[in-house]
Amino acid sequence: TIGYTEWFLDENDAESIPARDSTDTAGDVLALFKSLDLQGSIEHGSASRDFGGMHSSEPLAIIKPAGSDDISKVIQLAKQIPHLTVAASGNDHSINGQAMVDNGIIIDMKSMDADRIEVAPSGSYVDVSGGVLWEDVLKSCVLNHGLSPRSWTDYLGLTVGGTLSNAGVSGQTFIYGPQTENVTELEVITGNGETIFCSHNEKSEVFFSVLGGLGQFGIITRARVLLQPAPDMVRWIRVVYHEFTEFTRDIELLVGLGDTFDYVEGFVFVNSDDPINGWPSVPLDLNRLDSTQIPSIAGPLLYCLEVALNYNKNETLPSSVDMRAEKLLGQLRFCKNSNFQKDLSYMDFLLRIKHVEEQAKANGIWDTPHPWLNLFVSKKDIANFDRHIFKNILKNGVGGPMLIYPILRSKWDDRTSVVLPEGEIIYLVALLRFCLPYPKGLSVEEMVAQNHEIVQCCIENGFDFKKYLPHYNSREEWKQHFGNQWTRFQERKARFDPMAILAPGQKIFTRN
Ligand code: FAD
Repeated sequence: TIGYTEWFLDENDAESIPARDSTDTAGDVLALFKSLDLQGSIEHGSASRDFGGMHSSEPLAIIKPAGSDDISKVIQLAKQIPHLTVAASGNDHSINGQAMVDNGIIIDMKSMDADRIEVAPSGSYVDVSGGVLWEDVLKSCVLNHGLSPRSWTDYLGLTVGGTLSNAGVSGQTFIYGPQTENVTELEVITGNGETIFCSHNEKSEVFFSVLGGLGQFGIITRARVLLQPAPDMVRWIRVVYHEFTEFTRDIELLVGLGDTFDYVEGFVFVNSDDPINGWPSVPLDLNRLDSTQIPSIAGPLLYCLEVALNYNKNETLPSSVDMRAEKLLGQLRFCKNSNFQKDLSYMDFLLRIKHVEEQAKANGIWDTPHPWLNLFVSKKDIANFDRHIFKNILKNGVGGPMLIYPILRSKWDDRTSVVLPEGEIIYLVALLRFCLPYPKGLSVEEMVAQNHEIVQCCIENGFDFKKYLPHYNSREEWKQHFGNQWTRFQERKARFDPMAILAPGQKIFTRN
């Protein structure tokens, strides 16, 4: 936390900004930003929380930029005010304060060119602002053009710039790579205040740095996202396994096939009738999954494979969708009678978590804390992960989904800033905890302690893993996270944000 009275001007900048004395307050800094004559607006900051709900911060000001020029001006000015930091804020869906700033400036990306979603005449890509929500990209592309991005996240109330700063993964990642692999051009405003248009070929160092760059190198103000024709329907299927080895055998088989499902994910659930963690979390239709469908030798946990096939109503006979699905399912060894299916529109499928959000809001568990933990775990350690962590530490569930699905490393360009464990097949494990009302679940503190125990267990067993959406408090831990990519990450910082103005909530670098 910075005391307001510590602010003073850089000597070199004394001419550009009127001098201030030690009695300066937040109001003076605000006045300086107001003098920029931005096209957008400036508001006083107020205490805020993110989706994680465990951290809060009090920014000095919130800037609602009208366009990239505003952002560039804000960073240029911030450079001249010692200690001042700036965080782009997407939809504040981080867990650990990554988009927060104390006594600094928040740039509210959602207000920028909010309606800017321009599909190219060729239909091969769409240009979107960094602060646009993916659900708006979906609706605009599908409804107006019959087109769709290829790679998604499960939940779409996230901003384009926010997910590109991490990776953006879901059940299509094994085919197309993460969202960071599905953009061809970016407009970025670096921590130097420079506006840069970059791509694989032009200024590629900026391009690859900001993808998965945790907001450390620049603010993504525009992205060119690849499109393909949108199907109109989806066959959504869930089947159940009682053995982890069978589940992983089948899911790995599916992601390795050329002709396969369009979406492949999975989740772990508790072998009980618990409404959140147990059997009721599986069916997609009015059917029920009950004990008669589960072999008596099953353990405390079961595994659900979730897949989907895209199709077009007018071009495909219902029987041919059945045939395609049955051909693929026929190769798998799930429990008999545990096959749940539902046909729905492509938009409804991609917006499926929206309904979960609405329910959770109604139940009051959307706005309570979410100590989520996301990990990438190498395939070589996933069976032991199941044994030590799922079947032991997590045998009662997490009060929400425990996702597990493979991604393929060869679909990830290693020039981006993302770090992954070794090996071609890597599992995403997402422990999406919801705080249930007392006395049903663990307290937030207990959940955080359990997350810590899980990470420690991975370390003690020598698992090859990386945190996704990482959060650390010390430089040492960040160094370990990046491993042999740490030097590159540091060099990128020195080049594009040498004063460490951007995204202080990640706690990687300190403003100098
Ligand atoms: P914020 O949380 O606001 O920002 C995240 C970081 O990026 C911050 O450091 C911020 O400063 C920086 N940032 C924000 N905008 C920009 C920008 N334009 N340019 C540069 N830096 C920027 N992730 C997945 O991959 N797959 C999923 O299926 C998935 N599902 C989720 C479901 C829910 C309900 C939630 C809460 C999160 C989910 N996430 C998922 C995680 C999500 O990708 C991250 O929270 C991500 O940070 C996007 O959220 P946001 O747009 O709110 O960004």
